[in-house]
Amino acid sequence: MTKRAYNFNAGPAALPLEVLQQGQEEFINFLDSGMSIMEMSHRSPIYEQVHNEVQSLLRELMGIPDSYKILLLQGGASTQFAMVPMNLLPAGKVGAYVMTGSWSEKAIKEAQLFGETAVAASSEADKFNRIPDLSAIKLPDNAAYLHVTSNETIEGTQYQTFPDTGDVTLIGDMSSDIMSRPVDVSRFGMIYAGAQKNLGPSGVTIVIAREDMVLASPKNIPTMMRYETHAKNNSLYNTPPSFSVYLAGLMLKWVKAKGGVADIEKINRDKTRLIYDTIDQSGGFYRGFADQGSRSLMNITFRIHTEELEKQFVKESEAHGFVGLKGHRSVGGLRASTYNAVPMESCKALADFMADFQKRNG
Ligand code: PMP
Repeated sequence: MTKRAYNFNAGPAALPLEVLQQGQEEFINFLDSGMSIMEMSHRSPIYEQVHNEVQSLLRELMGIPDSYKILLLQGGASTQFAMVPMNLLPAGKVGAYVMTGSWSEKAIKEAQLFGETAVAASSEADKFNRIPDLSAIKLPDNAAYLHVTSNETIEGTQYQTFPDTGDVTLIGDMSSDIMSRPVDVSRFGMIYAGAQKNLGPSGVTIVIAREDMVLASPKNIPTMMRYETHAKNNSLYNTPPSFSVYLAGLMLKWVKAKGGVADIEKINRDKTRLIYDTIDQSGGFYRGFADQGSRSLMNITFRIHTEELEKQFVKESEAHGFVGLKGHRSVGGLRASTYNAVPMESCKALADFMADFQKRNG
């Protein structure tokens, strides 16, 4: 086998080798059916079993209460930016958003197309280098929901705790940190996430929602955009992204075999500590972008003091087998995405490379 890259891509991102290998083994003849899962009817018992197992594994691993529906949709988290207000923001109510960076900005922009919105808190004045102080959150009286982005993939910030919203429904975009640490799902009315970071390949979008959020959608929005359509048909109203659902199932079994989400979090903390420590012990050669108290376990953003050195860092890292270390084009700098499937070995190699690069250029 050719050597695997040290893959720090932001998404689509690294998948565990074991998962890819199992997918390869089963690719042509799935469960002795004489065909690939991709060639199979989504109404077949074999596919339905895969589909239902993904939901039950999510329920088990995330501790999702029975009163919540788990939807397997398409369109990415970006479609959820629109579906949330289309379904859940009636006239006379206000969709409240915490602005923490690029993805929350996109979410509120979509909501503005459908109804009234409010910024409940923002760290824009600090260039989104931290999660705003949660005690500063101001909810409008007639808030329909409060939307948070649990992990800002581009800026590399992550909520350490979630705001207490009382009777107001909390909605979380967890695209870039779902399954990376335990979360009390019952505090949220809805959680959504594209799969392509921690849950598998792109293609499937997970929506976890309290039943009342998804069982009575407005009648005047397109069928496919109504949560009710999917909730009442076990996400089989139309053809689901069957291959992505299948691979997400392999990913979930991998998480379970690792001991579950709490154990995964420990591993994630150990992995990221290696890299954050390298930044903090560099005497200022590397500078972390995110405030210490808002640092992400999934996306480590950092800078070197000149853009030339940053360019050189990316170039040299590529020559050493690293992929995906260039920061997002909108903010520059450097970023290492350390999702669940990124092995400790890759993080060690990166920490060593960073120390060595500093030695040669510091
Ligand atoms: N929210 C967050 C936090 C993300 O990181 C992303 C993708 N990087 C999105 C939303 C958009 O997801 P998608 O590309 O699946 O629409």
